[in-house]
Amino acid sequence: MAGGCVRDALLGRSPKDYDVATDATPESVRSVFGKSQTLAFGASFGVIGVLPPKGLKRNDGKKLEPTEIATFRSDGQYSDGRRPDSVHYGNAEQDALRRDFTINGLFYDPKSDSVVDFVGGQADLKRGVLQTIGDPVARFGEDKLRMLRAVRFATSLDFKIAEATHAAIVEHSGEIAMVSGERIGAEMRRVMQHPNALAGLNHLVQCKLHHAIMPELESADWNRIERLMQQKTQREFPISLACVLASLADAWAGLRAITNRWKLSNEETRIVGAAIKHWSIIAQAANLPWSQVQPRLIDRDAQAIWKLAATIVEAEGHDDSGIRLTKDALSWAPEKLDPPVLLSGDSLRELGIAAGPQYKTILQAVRDAQLNKQLETREEAIALAMKLTVS
Ligand code: ATP
Ligand code: MG
Repeated sequence: MAGGCVRDALLGRSPKDYDVATDATPESVRSVFGKSQTLAFGASFGVIGVLPPKGLKRNDGKKLEPTEIATFRSDGQYSDGRRPDSVHYGNAEQDALRRDFTINGLFYDPKSDSVVDFVGGQADLKRGVLQTIGDPVARFGEDKLRMLRAVRFATSLDFKIAEATHAAIVEHSGEIAMVSGERIGAEMRRVMQHPNALAGLNHLVQCKLHHAIMPELESADWNRIERLMQQKTQREFPISLACVLASLADAWAGLRAITNRWKLSNEETRIVGAAIKHWSIIAQAANLPWSQVQPRLIDRDAQAIWKLAATIVEAEGHDDSGIRLTKDALSWAPEKLDPPVLLSGDSLRELGIAAGPQYKTILQAVRDAQLNKQLETREEAIALAMKLTVS
């Protein structure tokens, strides 16, 4: 076993997945497990995927991914700051030395039930320290993404970044801009959704990586960020990002820039946008006409809007009656939350009302009155429509 799973097991956490490293060549791995049980997905890097036994599921019911079995290797030169120019098979020690941080460079040998540690990873795990294997400047030079991985691991493990490692990141922080938006976004999602996300944002700033990744933090209202993010709970990425954006002078400009920089999906951007646009309606729901609140509750992103509102109201100590009211409403049956409309455009035509822009105004007024319980029946709706008609 190699890398993250050994680290997590030694910390008493359950690993996300298990990676295996071996001195067997990819060909012998395939012949041991059989061609039909293996995928040669990274054969050129010496990685073979072994399929899980048929029908076996994870404890949480999700599909089991293939287990990656990688042949020990040593990486060659890095000339592009992203990936090695060549890889060579090597021994276990060389394979440990090519890894990024000491705590990620451990092996566990199940046969002898022992941890194999060429890099001092166990000591750093005990001390709660994150540092590169070897000279940090050289290691960050090989692969710039490692600087952001340092922030991610310091965040998720609640570790300190060792002084020399930290200094090297600060010095080379500008080079993070060479990393693709997709890779930056993948790391930032993991930082932001972690219970320790506030510490993660602080690491980002202290490492000066925010200049290229999230320069908005420079002028953000940090007191507000701290209030909104202080709760150490797992959060959904869009809500977490919305909390930060809600602490900026211009949340929309921030969302546009981050969408580009982190290559957010259209769905993510839409959810964050809905939350920052509408949360205050939910927060004030108890004091607003229902016709203003209800459309937000039938929005496809209602859950996200509600969660951001609840987070802000709680963090700022505001009156939470709107939050409670809307939480209740979100559990109503669909006919109650979103009653069928009383009049349509066709109904107006049947009533002989001249088609035109006034249809929209009339239908909206009738709908609002219905939601606000000012009218209930079709007859009352017709009466209001006629009253509003200018002929
Ligand atoms: P998790 O899967 O929980 O995010 P992990 O440590 O398993 O954490 P992965 O990205 O899955 O992280 O990588 C597996 C292992 O591969 C790492 O533990 C590390 O040893 C090595 N590794 C991954 N990315 C790099 C990198 N950019 N540079 C050097 N080694 C790396
Ligand atoms: Mg992993």
